[in-house]
Amino acid sequence: VLILGVESSCDETSAAVLRNGQELLSHIISSQISTHQKYGGVVPEIASREHLLHFRGVVRQTLTEAGVNFSDLSGIAVTYGPGLVGSLLVGVAGAKAMAYAAGLPLIGINHLEGHIYANFLNTPDLTFPLLALLVSGGHTHLVYFEGHGHFQVLGHTRDDAAGEALDKIARALGLGYPGGPQIQKASLSGNPHAFEFPRAMLEPGSLDFSFSGMKSAVLNTLNSARMKGVELSVPDLAASFQQAVVDVLVRKALLALERTGAKTLVLAGGVAANALLRERLTAELLTKEIRFVYPPPILCTDNGAMIATAGYYHYLVRDFAPWNLNAIPGLNLV
Ligand code: ATP
Ligand code: MG
Ligand code: FE
Repeated sequence: VLILGVESSCDETSAAVLRNGQELLSHIISSQISTHQKYGGVVPEIASREHLLHFRGVVRQTLTEAGVNFSDLSGIAVTYGPGLVGSLLVGVAGAKAMAYAAGLPLIGINHLEGHIYANFLNTPDLTFPLLALLVSGGHTHLVYFEGHGHFQVLGHTRDDAAGEALDKIARALGLGYPGGPQIQKASLSGNPHAFEFPRAMLEPGSLDFSFSGMKSAVLNTLNSARMKGVELSVPDLAASFQQAVVDVLVRKALLALERTGAKTLVLAGGVAANALLRERLTAELLTKEIRFVYPPPILCTDNGAMIATAGYYHYLVRDFAPWNLNAIPGLNLV
């Protein structure tokens, strides 16, 4: 089975050719980060224009590097939501056109499911039930999987996503975009206990998240010091904030593992690339006989390989999309 996966939900135009759900024959990620950096975040109108410029080239190069033609493929998988509507439309329209012209099945993939399926690319022997902690730029979800396509969202953020909070604080600290990697870098030379920011745990036993209080606490600390003419240490602020975010994520993940009895935890989404989060969970799970799996950093942020992987599992059960598949910007996991 040979799947072409394409992703264009935000600011990465990406494609991959995947054989039998395991072997990446090629994978190209064209990132627009440098284009958006000067605005301090993704500008939707610019993002969709950039996708238009790069989409055909990325797909062509991906097929060339894999050494395959459209006629060799089994199906084309594409992200149809959630994301920026203009960005999504480029991928959806492109994938539809290619699939229709080549007589191939079209496979519509939920971007969030794609993030989680990045784990199946490297670890095909994953067993169910498993718990996924999805921490990305726009989402923070705890998802319980009983099997392929059978999942249940146990909790989610009530305000900011973890990545969103990291991006906003990085911006306030003058660290630039995207913020997560910058916070991680600045933290290396900071003291994670310099400031004690609040960890919102919500009602006892809740598997939901809230990061806005923590974010406000950092901003208030920063602003009140500035008003007094005091400049606080950016590395200390970054390290203390990162510590607080990771604390909450780890505690909620452990609670969900206890609650469900799942013996496997997979990490997914851009924030899954965070070294402290990986280290802390590794340490916590070592003694608990829970298998802990996470993708390499390049497969944590947006990419076509994860869409191809999710596409492979949909292909196996012939879960194909109709020709009127549309972009759904607010698509969620249900
Ligand atoms: P979503 O997947 O929810 O639609 P998105 O696609 O924009 O949102 P991703 O690409 O999955 O988000 O992840 C991007 C996020 O990951 C950004 O918020 C970024 O700051 C964060 N991130 C990337 N690398 C790291 C890291 N090393 N540490 C912490 N956060 C990181
Ligand atoms: Mg991105
Ligand atoms: Fe994403």
